[in-house]
Amino acid sequence: MKKLVLFDLDGTLVDGGGCGRRALEKTMQELYGITPKFEFVLTSGRTDLDIFSLLYGLIKKGKKPTAAELKKMQKKYLEILPREVQMSVRNKKYHLVNGVKKFLSLLAKDKDIILGLGTGNLEEGARLKLTPSGLESFFTVGGFGGDGHTREDMLRAAVKRAEKKYKTKLDPDNVFVIGDTHRDIVAAKNCGFHNAVLTTGFGEPQKIQRAAAELQARDYTKDLSLFCVWLRLKTDPKGVKRGRYIMPATAIEHVFFSRTGIDEDRLKMLRIKKYEDLESGTIM
Ligand SMILES: [Mg+2]
Repeated sequence: MKKLVLFDLDGTLVDGGGCGRRALEKTMQELYGITPKFEFVLTSGRTDLDIFSLLYGLIKKGKKPTAAELKKMQKKYLEILPREVQMSVRNKKYHLVNGVKKFLSLLAKDKDIILGLGTGNLEEGARLKLTPSGLESFFTVGGFGGDGHTREDMLRAAVKRAEKKYKTKLDPDNVFVIGDTHRDIVAAKNCGFHNAVLTTGFGEPQKIQRAAAELQARDYTKDLSLFCVWLRLKTDPKGVKRGRYIMPATAIEHVFFSRTGIDEDRLKMLRIKKYEDLESGTIM
C-alpha cells in the first residue's frame, strides 16, 4: 500500500531568507507604486493566490483583484523571484531545515513512499525557491499555490496527481502532511490527512499548539524516529497504540482532537469553531 508524504516548502524544507517576501513587496511596488505593510504571520502558510488577493486588498482598500489582476501579479512575482532567491543564497541567508536531506533520503529508500510537495507556492515559484537546496529531485508530484485559494484545494490536487501518476488509490489514512504553521495542520485535518508540524519554521507557537498536530517536532534531527512511528514505518517503542498518542493541551482536547472514530459530526463542528477562533487570533 502506497503512502504519500506531502511537504510544505517554506520553513519545512528550506528557509529562503525572506526571498518570497521581498519578491511580493517588489511586485506590488512595481505594479501599483505601493509597498504594502504587513506582518509576516499574515502570509505564512497561505497559498500565493490568497496572498496576492490579501495584499491587493491592503493597498486597494479591501477591493478584490480580478482574474486578470491576479495573473498580472503572478507574472511579475515570478519575474522578480529568481534574483531575490539568488540574493538570499549570496548573502548566506538561504538554509535547509536541519536534517531534511537525511530524512528525505531515508524516505526515498522506501518503495511504498511517494514524496510530494504540498506548498502554497506557485509551481514555478516552488521550483525557483527549491533549486539551490538540491532537494528538488526527491519530489515526483506536488500540489501548488496555483491549484486554488485554499491549502485544502492544493493538498487535494497533490493527492489526485499522485493517484494518477502512480495509478493507485490513496486513502486519506495514507496521506501525511508536514508543515510549519497552524494553517498546514488545519488544512490537513480538514481533508482528513495525517499532520505533523515543525516548530522552527514560520508558524506562531500559540496557534500551532491550539491546532494540535498529531506530531510536533523541532526539525528532522533528534525527532526522526518519531516521524517514523508517525508514518507507520516503525512501531512505537513504548507500545503506544495509534490514535491514542498526541500532545493534548487539555483533557477536552484529548477527547475531541486526539481520538478518532467518535461522534464525527460533532468533532467536525468543534473543529470549525475552533479553527475560526484560530484565524481571528482569539485563543480560548
Ligand atoms: Mg511553511
